[in-house]
Amino acid sequence: MQRKYAVHVIRDFCKGCGICMVLCPAKILTLSKDCNKRGHHYVIAKENGCLGCRTCELTCPDFAIFIECLEENSEK
Ligand code: SF4
Ligand code: SF4
Repeated sequence: MQRKYAVHVIRDFCKGCGICMVLCPAKILTLSKDCNKRGHHYVIAKENGCLGCRTCELTCPDFAIFIECLEENSEK
């Protein structure tokens, strides 16, 4: 199944506060093992499962995460 939404994290903006992880209804966000250049673990998203609700995008205090709506697949 083709994914409908892509989750983009601007790695060096993220401070790893976890707000998006807690609020994501799909529970597809986790923290990286690596650190960004500011020394924070940053959010990474599973490739599939995003519901496109944009809760993460709207609640991130650092504008570090945004959602891209991908084109509908050609099954229509
Ligand atoms: S993406 Fe935003 S809300 Fe999520 S952990 Fe990073 S700074 Fe916090
Ligand atoms: S748009 Fe919604 S489902 Fe997708 S990663 Fe953000 S909070 Fe989770």
